[in-house]
Amino acid sequence: MSAAYLEKLNTEQRLAVEYGVGQVAGPLLVIAGAGSGKTNTLAHRVAHLIVNGADPRRILLMTFSRRAASEMSRRVERICGQVLGAKSGIMVDALEWAGTFHGIGARLLREYADQIGLSPDFTIHDREDSADLMNIIRHELGFSKKESRFPTKGTCLAIYSRTVNSERPLDEVLKASFPWCATWDAQLRQLFAAYVEAKQKQNILDYDDLLLYWAQTASVSTLADDMGGRFDHVLVDEYQDTNRLQSSILLALKPGGRGLTVVGDDAQSIYSFRAATVRNILDFPKAFSPSADIITLDRNYRSTQTILAAANGVIDLASERFTKNLWTERQSAERPQLVSVRDETDQARYIVERVLENRETGTLLKQQAVLFRTSHHSGPLEVELTRSNIPFVKFGGLKFLDSAHIKDMLAVLRFAQNPRDRVAGFRLMQLLPGVGPSSAQRVLDQMAEKTDPIAALAEIPVPPRAGEDWMGFVQTLQQICAGRAAWPAEIEQARLWYEPHLEHIHEDASMRQADLLQLQQIAAGYPSRERFLTELTLDPPDATSDQSGVPLLDEDYLILSTIHSAKGQEWKSVYMLNVVDGCMPSDLGVGSTAELEEERRLLYVAMTRAKDNLHLVVPQRFFTHGQNAQGDRHVYASRTRFIPATLLQYFECIAWPLARSSAAGQSEQPKMRVDIGARMRGMWQ
Ligand code: ATP
Ligand code: MG
Repeated sequence: MSAAYLEKLNTEQRLAVEYGVGQVAGPLLVIAGAGSGKTNTLAHRVAHLIVNGADPRRILLMTFSRRAASEMSRRVERICGQVLGAKSGIMVDALEWAGTFHGIGARLLREYADQIGLSPDFTIHDREDSADLMNIIRHELGFSKKESRFPTKGTCLAIYSRTVNSERPLDEVLKASFPWCATWDAQLRQLFAAYVEAKQKQNILDYDDLLLYWAQTASVSTLADDMGGRFDHVLVDEYQDTNRLQSSILLALKPGGRGLTVVGDDAQSIYSFRAATVRNILDFPKAFSPSADIITLDRNYRSTQTILAAANGVIDLASERFTKNLWTERQSAERPQLVSVRDETDQARYIVERVLENRETGTLLKQQAVLFRTSHHSGPLEVELTRSNIPFVKFGGLKFLDSAHIKDMLAVLRFAQNPRDRVAGFRLMQLLPGVGPSSAQRVLDQMAEKTDPIAALAEIPVPPRAGEDWMGFVQTLQQICAGRAAWPAEIEQARLWYEPHLEHIHEDASMRQADLLQLQQIAAGYPSRERFLTELTLDPPDATSDQSGVPLLDEDYLILSTIHSAKGQEWKSVYMLNVVDGCMPSDLGVGSTAELEEERRLLYVAMTRAKDNLHLVVPQRFFTHGQNAQGDRHVYASRTRFIPATLLQYFECIAWPLARSSAAGQSEQPKMRVDIGARMRGMWQ
């Protein structure tokens, strides 16, 4: 008799779960549409492997975010529990290699550091730190003069990152994605060479290095067997959003593909701006030929038939697609709503009204989500939610760790961990009175020559104004380095030194003080400074409505999320903001057919998050951050081109408010009435 958890799966899912169990077969590709149970199948497969004797410590499971990894571990534990009972908790705790590519890369590289010429104390730069370092070097090389029109630090980093992740030559990347920078080819090469040298000297890895070093380490013949051999099974979710470097890593770990399972949906490939390529999933069988097995799933368990029909309609218009249309048994009389509203204020009001109505009838806030193309689109909604006392959590927006005071605090720990990290040192020293960029550079230059830079710090002359404060700074670093207060108590030392500086820098010091205490609490949940710094840098907590940026886990709250961060998730009700040309597709995403197709897939991803109801809201005008001389402005909008008139049959089209009295409308927005009327009439033709 088979385990009960297998009985709930359909034939294809079960095939994928039981595939080669007990004999380490593979490679296996599960390619299937949204909501067809790919992630669920992967969780069952991991559980089934464990139940059948696989060692969980030898399973490598890679997901898109740390959140997804812990959700997956919880599911695996639940499934294993049906067979193993209480023992399943212990087994799943041993599933220690579940995480993101970057997080796993960081851990493995620390282990192998000695063998590949890295110091195991390396610190990790987030994108902002990387851009800062790039900028320092731009200055040093004299490329930053305004009149030279050399690309900005952000563009330089984007070019560098794209080149590394796509494993393509620089000139090709410039031609394809940054043609306006092509004349700078020689200078960019010089800049990138210096950037790499600086990182190595300072014992720093950036995000891209975590993958690059991993790929290189795994392909060194003396290390490859060891690294690949420690995992019997390697499983990857959301494979459509991996880049070339990530597929190289898999190929290096499992050259013949034995023990390798990847799942994904080409129709949901939405990360090409991070060099992800849908070719990875499409070419998977070729990369591992001749033996790759493919399983497709075509039943959707998530959405009602009406939602699925609309989503299928949208993706049917895509120019290229591998996965086929899905079907579902979930019938519903309610079509998705395409709601025309006057502007973003009304859009916010509409959503608040629906959300509250849903809550009245028993749908928790947590079961509802508002999705948008770009983080700043949710501004007016956030105001309205706050006014209506609706708590919310925002994913994919400004991160807790992006705020200056948190970065300062983390810089103290980072600098103590790795005193060669110039970006951290540069940031901290300038907090001290009288220390500007040039003195900070000078001190860092002197430190760089010493074998024990922190010990040497006390002897280096600094501007007199820094005086006492400087000594406090040096002592704090020395104490942390010497491990006087064990982790996590050392973060308290860092805070006590840093806190008085808050008042000089920020007006809202008391609120920021509370954040620092929060950070201390978060830190207490990590086993070591190094794990804390690594994991926070790679996957920081998201911003929330309580100002502190830490999710209010036990309360009910509405989810606000960019579409990119909503990947793989589902909610009973989904509302989508600004379903208009200019936002969806974004003005920035209409340059090429490939970009436009990716925007279409984004809409498909958004629509397929909904289980029971879906509302696409179309404001007649919206606010845009103008990039021209006019500055910010309101523009008139029309329904997204991805829902042409031929698809309107799949929607219930309404204008909201349903019965606005013309007098009220007039008094609020007299100038707009004429224009709205014309647009409303034209809209649904
Ligand atoms: P996405 O493409 O959005 O990542 P997915 O293919 O990974 O979706 P899942 O998230 O695994 O799909 O599953 C979607 C929903 O369907 C979940 O609620 C899951 O519990 C449910 N589901 C999957 N398989 C079955 C099944 N055999 N019976 C009942 N429900 C199922
Ligand atoms: Mg999934």
